[in-house]
Amino acid sequence: MDSLTPMMNQYTEIKARHRDSILLFRLGDFYEMFGEDAKLASKVLDIALTSREKGKSRVPMCGVPHHAADSYIARLLKNGFKVAVCDQVEDPRQAKGIVKREVTRMITPGTILDINLLDAKANNYLAAVSRSGNERGKDLERGLAYIDASTGEFYTSCFSSDQGLLDEIMRIRPAEIILPESSRDEGFLPGLPSNIKISYAEDWKYSPREGETLLKEHFRVSVLDGYGLTGRQAAVSASAVILQYLRETQKTALAHITRLKYYEPSNFLVIDEATRDNLELVESRDPGAGKKGTLLSALDATVTSMGGRLLKNWILQPLKNIEEIEKRQSVIKEFYDKAVLRKEIRAVLDNCSDIQRMIGRISAGTVLPRELVMLKNSLLRFPELQALLKGAELPSLKFIADMDPAGDAAGLIEKAVSEDAPHLIKDGGIIREGFSEELDGLRAVKKDAKKMLAEMEKSERERTGIQSLKVSFNGVFGYYIEVTRANLQLVPANYIRKQTLVNSERYITPELKDFETTVLNAEDRISRLEYELYGRVKASLLPHIESVMSVSRAIAFLDTTSALAETAKLNGYVRPVITKDGAISITGGRHPVVEKYLSGERFIPNDTRLDGLENRYLIITGPNMAGKSTYIRQVALIVIMAHMGGFVPAAEASVTLTDRIFSRIGASDSISRGQSTFMVEMAETANILNNATADSLIILDEIGRGTSTFDGLSLAWAVSEYINGKIGAKTLFATHYHELTELEMILDGIKNYNIAVKEWNDNIIFVRKIVPGGADKSYGIQVARLAGIPGEVLLRAKTVLKNLEAANFDREGKPRIAAGGVFKDNLQLSLLDKTAEPASGAEALEELRGLDPENMTPIEALIKLKEIKQKLGE
Ligand code: ATP
Repeated sequence: MDSLTPMMNQYTEIKARHRDSILLFRLGDFYEMFGEDAKLASKVLDIALTSREKGKSRVPMCGVPHHAADSYIARLLKNGFKVAVCDQVEDPRQAKGIVKREVTRMITPGTILDINLLDAKANNYLAAVSRSGNERGKDLERGLAYIDASTGEFYTSCFSSDQGLLDEIMRIRPAEIILPESSRDEGFLPGLPSNIKISYAEDWKYSPREGETLLKEHFRVSVLDGYGLTGRQAAVSASAVILQYLRETQKTALAHITRLKYYEPSNFLVIDEATRDNLELVESRDPGAGKKGTLLSALDATVTSMGGRLLKNWILQPLKNIEEIEKRQSVIKEFYDKAVLRKEIRAVLDNCSDIQRMIGRISAGTVLPRELVMLKNSLLRFPELQALLKGAELPSLKFIADMDPAGDAAGLIEKAVSEDAPHLIKDGGIIREGFSEELDGLRAVKKDAKKMLAEMEKSERERTGIQSLKVSFNGVFGYYIEVTRANLQLVPANYIRKQTLVNSERYITPELKDFETTVLNAEDRISRLEYELYGRVKASLLPHIESVMSVSRAIAFLDTTSALAETAKLNGYVRPVITKDGAISITGGRHPVVEKYLSGERFIPNDTRLDGLENRYLIITGPNMAGKSTYIRQVALIVIMAHMGGFVPAAEASVTLTDRIFSRIGASDSISRGQSTFMVEMAETANILNNATADSLIILDEIGRGTSTFDGLSLAWAVSEYINGKIGAKTLFATHYHELTELEMILDGIKNYNIAVKEWNDNIIFVRKIVPGGADKSYGIQVARLAGIPGEVLLRAKTVLKNLEAANFDREGKPRIAAGGVFKDNLQLSLLDKTAEPASGAEALEELRGLDPENMTPIEALIKLKEIKQKLGE
């Protein structure tokens, strides 16, 4: 083995403990990376790769200046790496031998605390998954815990299936997920998207007994009942794994993690991944469009990042409990009715910074002076909000009006931290005057130094009679007295010569050196003392974290509710009545997003009546572009908004509590998951058929369009019968299969509706009104004209359509679609055209045996039959 330098030995030893991270190793003013780390980082960071001697060989190396490390770390994180920062942990001047170094922080995608690296209006979650119970037995339980390390919000739950677990992970969309080491090779949770960073934790860390001890210790409780964790082993170990991971990475006591909440996903309105995407709740289906065109963008009038994040969570996890929904509704109503109050509250909120995200940084000790000033200024605004809410009768507002405004924390910062504190600690000037006598004294010395120097210069001139004598400072000699050559004879005996220049000599005196020591000492002492005092201020804030958190939660709540009231007012939304009567009744409903983006045209409101009885399954037909998709989506969105506790775009609405919303919309391949368009469509349909209940709402925008017409129609028919008869879920089905309208005649619960249009001179005018009854035409050709399809193609399409509508085949069995013969080389046609000898009965039988009816469409079967009959000479 190569003999390494002691420093490289130290590096190798530390790196061995952080194999899965890029290790930034502090050397002087740089953080250096070596070996594979250096090769990877130099590419990602676009920095020069050099090398350094390591024993007899050389090792690749690259480095970044320590003061700019954060921006490089950010780039490494963005590229999916974890970063371990190794610092010198003793003063190099006092080190015996090699300076002691340790990893002081680890930053992973799920543990970022730096506000600049985080999306202000989205939580950044770290999740952990555990499994408990017998692998093969039925009682296998999966636990999920997730936390936003920057705000301390910490949740956990249990699942009985991988699918349920995966659905929840997809809702949360963590930046990083911790899985058990033993699952590394077994392809656990194969559907996890590749942009979630996977980390592994050793299996022993999942021990429920030790997990329980760790949680009790952390939360300083003797039982976990208060957290709803009794008997929930999988949730306990997932939560404990998160805490351990954070301890290892943050290396602090995690004072901001003060609560953990157990929840049941079924206590909320469940929205699966496909539905969330299809309805464009928080992200557009248009790649790159981000939030634009989403429900979130239509509703988001929040003025703080805290409110923005809460609103997003409300949209993704609507409630399923009438009292809780009404609690939110009544606060929104209060702000809706009281315009002045709403305006005043929003004006104060507008001045509040993201204090929730500072909580994690206070706890980790990395909070910067200027951030504390921002925190204090926001906390000082809180009593203004409380004053505005004085006299409020609603319990949630009364609670906020009476709560502890974290005035102690604000007071501590106000007293200690200077109003114009710098961004960085090293810049000094953090501590306010009057906070420390010692610091004030030292600052006075520093300030007086200039005055004292001027006085000294004056008195030396008088004493020596040298009028040009100057007292100055440079970095090499410190303070000195300069005398020009012409006056050298006047230099007194106590001057000690230090340097000779062409025209002058420089001297020092014992008095000047004393002065110098005092000044330099004062500067040094000031920066040390400020650092120390700042550390004490940060520590003194720790006991106040809980009250700061409560204030930040209150701010987020006020912002979200007042913003929803503002949006409701601006867009004319109403408060929906929430019931358990199984019916959805909407008068004058509108699509909250489409109505905002409509240019030129006015949005036409439509009614909806859905119940578990006569109006259970609505088949909606109508021309292309008439507004079918918009209509069925608007119903789903109104139901979601109602469950969020918000107001809805309608003249009147009554919405029954719904357990799940399903959607099957449009066609899209999922090539990355190796599924074709039709496969995706059928998988989504299967999910609906297997999981919907009578309390669910289903919206279907065509089924079976990805396969042959007859297969598709047959599937759509059978699916409709099944949902209507077996499941009984309230359903809206938009389709161009006009044949489905026959269902109304034979089945209870099914009703036909269509979106009316007017025909005028071969043109269609969209009326956008939903009316009872089925449509008989799709007007596809007219709509194709609107889209710019050339006239020649449209004309031909019309002929083909006529032929089709007349009948499918003529008397000779030739398909009429092709009549007129433009597309001559139709394969089936040429087959039929063949003139052949009559075949024998045995040959015909043989041919019939060779057929595979399961894999033939009805038309193919019919054609084959005709063909065989023809061969028989009939
Ligand atoms: P296709 O069958 O071709 O998919 P569709 O019937 O589903 O069509 P939509 O996509 O819902 O039609 O609507 C087409 C466009 O019509 C929308 O993008 C919107 O601009 C407009 N639109 C839909 N509904 C309304 C309405 N109620 N009021 C005004 N404009 C509307």
